[in-house]
Amino acid sequence: MVRFEESSITFPYKRSLGPVIGAFMTALTEKKILGIRNGDGVLVPPMEWDPATGAELSRELIEVGPAGTIQSWTWVPDPTEQHPLDRPFAFAFIRLDGASTPLLHAVDAGSPGAMADGMRVAPRWKGKRIGHITDIACFVPGEESEVVGPDLGPAAEPVEMMDYLASIAYRNPVPPSSDLVVDASRQHRLVGFRCPVCGRTYAGGRGICPIDSLELDEQHVVDLPPTGTITNFVIVTPVQYPGQTETEPFARVFVLLDGTDVVLSYQPVVELPVQDVAVGVRVSAVWASAAEETEGNPYGSLIGWIPNGEPNVDDPDLVNRIF
Ligand SMILES: [Zn+2]
Repeated sequence: MVRFEESSITFPYKRSLGPVIGAFMTALTEKKILGIRNGDGVLVPPMEWDPATGAELSRELIEVGPAGTIQSWTWVPDPTEQHPLDRPFAFAFIRLDGASTPLLHAVDAGSPGAMADGMRVAPRWKGKRIGHITDIACFVPGEESEVVGPDLGPAAEPVEMMDYLASIAYRNPVPPSSDLVVDASRQHRLVGFRCPVCGRTYAGGRGICPIDSLELDEQHVVDLPPTGTITNFVIVTPVQYPGQTETEPFARVFVLLDGTDVVLSYQPVVELPVQDVAVGVRVSAVWASAAEETEGNPYGSLIGWIPNGEPNVDDPDLVNRIF
């Protein structure tokens, strides 16, 4: 029975909208949908350039809809969290009245049997509109627009920027060797796996010897010493991106464990100021106290490495030990 761990990664973007999409988004807060004149046609959503020729369009914005006609559609029976509705719905190409191109949006019709090409739909607006395509919660069958909840009115200022969250959710299998190393760490033990063929020891829960293509498990566990020597380091100056919790430069060090061939990479340090980090510094493992354990670090209880007071090791070969 394989255990899986769910993770997600999110990239928050802010983008400027420009004069045309900005006007489109601002109009959405007023419950209006704008297109742009392109020769005899009207493009919806509006664009700054003709998509066929690349020619810049004159900024003649035209209100369309709000009702329109479904040109084609596809049913989404199992929406994910990324979808606009949390119940089954259709994605449809909707040609709004007065437009010559279709707008892609969601239609809340209840069932695929209620959907048809040529069907008339109108927007269901959100009560609170921020200048985003999701100000239209979805389209609904019929000619009449509707508003969800109290209508909080249009935006006070023209909409010029848009927040966008690009996000991925994924599931990774967790190998038993990884759980074993974390469990040992909770008991304040560093363990590795020793390959019975080549004798190499692997740390960090790597349950395989890539040299011998051999799976390693609990019978190959060896205890590793909680002391070592810094062989390499990097000082990270944190960039203040969203979600960054570090504000001051900090170190990550590589530690060669005593009497072994094992190098632990990118380890945090404790009570070792950035300016004192150096190759050859002798360090010992620092473990979380019982009180600190409640935070439930998924990687175990090792907090980092602290100088243990022993004299530095002067060995020019140390810097070559990055693995
Ligand atoms: Zn091996």
